[in-house]
Amino acid sequence: MRKSVFIPTLSLLTVSALSMQAQDKPKPQDTEVWEPVPKVVSTGKTPMDPPSDAIILFDGKNLDEWVSVKDKSPAKWKVADGVLTVDKSTGNIETKRSFKNYQLHIEWRIPPTINGTGQGRGNSGIFLASTGPGDAGYEMQVLDSYENKTYVNGQAGSIYKQGIPLVNATKKPGEWQVYDVVWTAPTFNADGSVKTPAHITAFHNGALIQNNFELKGETLYIGKPSYKKYESAPIKLQSHGDPSEPISFRNIWVREL
Ligand code: MG
Repeated sequence: MRKSVFIPTLSLLTVSALSMQAQDKPKPQDTEVWEPVPKVVSTGKTPMDPPSDAIILFDGKNLDEWVSVKDKSPAKWKVADGVLTVDKSTGNIETKRSFKNYQLHIEWRIPPTINGTGQGRGNSGIFLASTGPGDAGYEMQVLDSYENKTYVNGQAGSIYKQGIPLVNATKKPGEWQVYDVVWTAPTFNADGSVKTPAHITAFHNGALIQNNFELKGETLYIGKPSYKKYESAPIKLQSHGDPSEPISFRNIWVREL
């Protein structure tokens, strides 16, 4: 009689211990994440085409998304044959919209007849955040860096005076070139001090040129970089004062992150 009570108790413990063991053993399902489900976007025939959730900043037709930096009037650069060309007499232009973190695609072309040397040869720039008048903000350099020597932290694909591009992927003047950029904006504490610095990853014609590069602040022509608090900002294209022929842009789109 005693025996018959004891045996079922023991076997219950054994089953329980075995089941505990089974629960502790890692399963493939333990590390599967099912939600949130990424939004579906449709993409184009090539990586040049904007995905379906992109904001089109320039598609060859007009400058409806852009204003002059100096007075916020409609941007007056030249649009012809699907191409946007810098008009140096009217100054920098910037987007009407402000952005924080984003992916940017932009194509640019140095004229085949470009002249000048160093920084004075096809100079323009993409300001990832236009945080004030003049050239304030964070510039990724646009320049003819095809067999054109200049300071390396100022050549095409540099974060101006801060980040040297990992390689020089510049094509010959006259050929279209592409920047694909991931911009992570700086964040600030209430007192204006930096919480997290800005970071940039960028590809030039498909080659990685900036690999999660950490910026030290705004990209200044003279002096040491420092940060100034901002929340979101337009993207600006530079009208540089050098006397060489103006450069062109096309197919500009952005995806907010
Ligand atoms: Mg520039």
